[in-house]
Amino acid sequence: MATTDAFVGLECVDCDATYDADETNRCPDCGGILEPSYDYDAIDLEREALESRSFDSLWRYEELLPFVRETAVTTDEGATPLVECPTLAEELGVGRLLIKDEGRNPTGTIRDRGQSVAVTAVAGRGGTDVALASTGDGGQSAAAYAGRAGLESHVYLPSRSGFSNKAMVNVHGGDMNVVGGRYDDAVGAFEEGLAEHDEWESLQAFSTPYRHEGEKTTLFEITEQLEWAVPDAVVYPTGGGVALVGGCKAATELQTLGLVDDRPSLYAAQAEGCAPIVDAFESGAADTEPVETPDTICGGIEVPDPVAGGRVLEAISETGGGAVATDDQDILEAGVTVAQHEGLEMTPSAAAAAGGAWELAERGEFDGDETVVLVNTATGNKEADVLRSYLMSQGV
Ligand SMILES: [Zn+2]
Repeated sequence: MATTDAFVGLECVDCDATYDADETNRCPDCGGILEPSYDYDAIDLEREALESRSFDSLWRYEELLPFVRETAVTTDEGATPLVECPTLAEELGVGRLLIKDEGRNPTGTIRDRGQSVAVTAVAGRGGTDVALASTGDGGQSAAAYAGRAGLESHVYLPSRSGFSNKAMVNVHGGDMNVVGGRYDDAVGAFEEGLAEHDEWESLQAFSTPYRHEGEKTTLFEITEQLEWAVPDAVVYPTGGGVALVGGCKAATELQTLGLVDDRPSLYAAQAEGCAPIVDAFESGAADTEPVETPDTICGGIEVPDPVAGGRVLEAISETGGGAVATDDQDILEAGVTVAQHEGLEMTPSAAAAAGGAWELAERGEFDGDETVVLVNTATGNKEADVLRSYLMSQGV
């Protein structure tokens, strides 16, 4: 497999064992999450060098990715706009508010970044089949990239996932398994399937070492788009926490390379009906406790027992961020407000970031001159029915 010059391998976050890039799952010794690692001294990357590259895909950050761009399974994901939202900034009482519109990725979601890198790893080692459970968007994205790479994909989605997710898994040629119940039921069915098929390789978040690695590039772009002015706060709608954990790594890497001096504070925004990260953050716990009866309209972030909960909490506390939950009504209202005032489309799950930002503002978390970035993880038209139903329930 063609790895980049500074990539030194995969390091287990629990036992520090190291592996080469061919390992595409958890640590064989202890089951810990594997983290791609780099020799940062060997990376010579100046602001000017990055600025001179065309803003065309996440693979423009090749030096900070495990695989060379030439071998990437890519549909030019990433390179999404960072949209100034002056009306929202005024409503929230902050200096600037911008939305990083990840809805403009090839399958309409930030998940494309992670799946591009993760599928590149499997294809590079000659794998034939990939499999995962997902709340929806990650499965659709996996089917797309697997199709492009000529791999079979086996996707497990809970029955509550959006119609467009399920339909597009089929359209991309994936083996679509709809599992009755919620996300945890889909994970159970996926794990049974995985155990029965030796040739399947997991694209499950934090099983593959490469999804959070791909999603980290969102924060590289945000920083570069702000002309290297580190934002004060970045708010991520959070289920499993892939994007946020990646964001923390990206922020640290930019600092390590001397490209910026500071890191932004990272915030996890969840729905009250399923907020294990917020619960743990508020109680000061180092890890999450499973939510027994999750219940939120935001199916994309309804992850009751996040496998990397501890790492999400670490990222939040290391960067001086926070965690905030709002109820479904507030989240849907926030999503509709963003659509009506700024013209941008967020799924209900993504709109948790907007609902959370409003709540943080009301709590006095911002003092008026901050630059706040909301990460819109998926385009609203994936769940137009949910947004419209909310409007109708309001008598519109
Ligand atoms: Zn280990």
